[in-house]
Amino acid sequence: MEYDVIIIGMGISGISAAIYAKNSGLNVLMLESNMPGGLINKINTINNYPGYKSITGPELSYELFASITNLKIPYKITTVTNIIVEANTKKVVTNDAVYNTKNIIIATGRKNRKLGLENEEKLLGHGISTCALCDGNLYKGKEIAVVGGGNSAIEEAIYLSKLASKVYVIHRRNEFRAEESLINELKNMSNIEFIMNSKVTSLLEEDNHLNGIIINNTKKLMVAALFVYIGFEPNNEFIGDLNILDETGYIKVNQNFETPVPNIYAVGDCIKKEVYQLVTNASDGVLAAIHIIKQNKQ
Ligand code: NAP
Repeated sequence: MEYDVIIIGMGISGISAAIYAKNSGLNVLMLESNMPGGLINKINTINNYPGYKSITGPELSYELFASITNLKIPYKITTVTNIIVEANTKKVVTNDAVYNTKNIIIATGRKNRKLGLENEEKLLGHGISTCALCDGNLYKGKEIAVVGGGNSAIEEAIYLSKLASKVYVIHRRNEFRAEESLINELKNMSNIEFIMNSKVTSLLEEDNHLNGIIINNTKKLMVAALFVYIGFEPNNEFIGDLNILDETGYIKVNQNFETPVPNIYAVGDCIKKEVYQLVTNASDGVLAAIHIIKQNKQ
């Protein structure tokens, strides 16, 4: 059997593509390695998605997933390990199967960048977190730290300041790159301390749990948790030798979201672009699907 299109990734861009492809009668399969919704699940409040005055990330993920089940779009929770291009078909290889398809839409998103410190991997989930919404409650009334200077770090620091007794915000420069309104909101919180021009240089642990950090190799801060929001890296491990990545690891696409390999598209957070927003990611998916639909009719 050969699918018309296999969509890898069930975040907002992949799901948007799937809705359009399915509604136009294409034979679609979705593959997801983790949880439908992807990184949206980690956002506490979304107030820039049309149609919702305010919605939590998990709620929006649920609604997105409901669109897939409502349209009876088949999906499998499995990890894609390779894509093989053959003369007459493309093969998507997963942990447990190989699927043939005419078109592929890669919508695998991004993952949180790591600090690159010793024991960081081991302490993830044990005091180190990239999800304030998931883990914030564990540190109610405690002193914690957030590292990063973008919208994510500032938004999540605002959320965490309502739970923790004190939040240190550590940023490597003297200026934040987050939006002014968010920075002002954070500055108005009474329990925030900014530590600028500074880097976390070591992680301290006790009983396999983070219990402090060292800043700039000198200053010790005894915090119960460190929330790391220092940007993202694309999920591209399965791309292999397709030669579609740019020098930073993002996927190269043209105006139709087609990669340099014909019939392989990429959308959302895994491509190189200016704006990474829920709405623009949804739009990427729709435009790729419409291009495939038009090609299919020719
Ligand atoms: P980001 O904008 O890439 O910011 C990453 C931050 O981490 C920067 O301040 C950067 O410092 C710092 N950083 C990077 N590598 C570091 C390292 N190794 N050590 C210490 N600090 C490091 O990432 P983001 O905040 O996650 O946002 C990603 C995208 O999503 C952005 O386009 C953002 O606008 C969007 N977003 C939008 C919203 C919203 O609309 N409400 C919310 C969240 C995210 P420098 O500044 O020095 O480079």
